[in-house]
Amino acid sequence: MRLLLVEDDALLGDGIQAGLRLAGYAVDWVRDGAAAALALRNERYAVCVLDLGLPQLDGLTLLRQLRSRGDHTPVLVLSARDTREDKVQGLDAGADDYLSKPFDLPELQARLRALLRRASGSGEAVLRFGEVTLDTVTRRAYFKAAPVALSGREHALLHDLLSHNQSIRSRSELEQSMYAWGEEVESNAVEVYIHHLRKKFGAHFIKTVRGLGYSLGTE
Ligand code: CA
Repeated sequence: MRLLLVEDDALLGDGIQAGLRLAGYAVDWVRDGAAAALALRNERYAVCVLDLGLPQLDGLTLLRQLRSRGDHTPVLVLSARDTREDKVQGLDAGADDYLSKPFDLPELQARLRALLRRASGSGEAVLRFGEVTLDTVTRRAYFKAAPVALSGREHALLHDLLSHNQSIRSRSELEQSMYAWGEEVESNAVEVYIHHLRKKFGAHFIKTVRGLGYSLGTE
């Protein structure tokens, strides 16, 4: 899952980025509102973690701009301001959830999982297709009820495909959810990892849709 982290506090941002990378997210981290606005225009993110007090452009204004142009990227607002009024403003501006600093990383991760579940329309912690299941809490995958070991990239790819159900995912969309900025994308990475997943879950688990990309499928 590709995630945009917007946080100007270097120490806090570093800690959140490290924790979320360990949890399997491809994290892009920007430190001011203007850079965040640019990133949100140019990339598609599964979710955005947004601090409110930011240099250049504050988080609330950024959020209002995002929503007013019809961008529905799920946003979790992160803020030191924990008065009720600020929470209400954040939610009214289009935030999907709100977390006050200081917070625990496990709570942030649980809230992000909940947001992603709601965004994918499933509402369930376990994603399924055919005989393949992925538990998004434990990050364990199963095929015909037997556990299957996955690398980080394989997990990211499987999570993306399962959370988009049977819609077609282009190669660049899949690449974006597997890699953060600055990470070197190996050549043919998507093809290579699709091949790995087919070996683990059966050749028909992922369909190639000629000229468009890939989708889950049975033919
Ligand atoms: Ca701040």
